[in-house]
Amino acid sequence: MEDTIFGKIIARKIPAKIAYEDEQYIAIHDVNPQAPVHLLVLPERHIDSFREIGEFPAEEAKRMLEFVADVAAREGLTDYRVAVNVGPSAGQTVFHLHWHIKGGWV
Ligand code: 5GP
Repeated sequence: MEDTIFGKIIARKIPAKIAYEDEQYIAIHDVNPQAPVHLLVLPERHIDSFREIGEFPAEEAKRMLEFVADVAAREGLTDYRVAVNVGPSAGQTVFHLHWHIKGGWV
């Protein structure tokens, strides 16, 4: 099994507060939220970071972005920020691609 905290969450080896999921993607609540609503979207397919996005089949990459937008809409967010930290000096601490969705200020 992939040895990151998100790999373990995807494998249901450790718990997380799951907001939404489908066959390929999962949205969880960040354990240390930096906004009133702070979700993380994780693809089940493992890549270390956004740098390797070319490893995703095109349709899967498109669906991942649609999933991010769907999660935000289902949370009732109209205005929100989507961010990906790439590399430690940019703030990446977990080396499994994930999309931050932050919102809920209004
Ligand atoms: P990064 O810093 O890599 O861009 O984002 C990692 C995020 O994962 C952080 O916002 C951090 O709070 C969150 N996080 C770290 N460990 C856990 C965990 O075990 N469960 C959940 N739900 N979030 C986590």
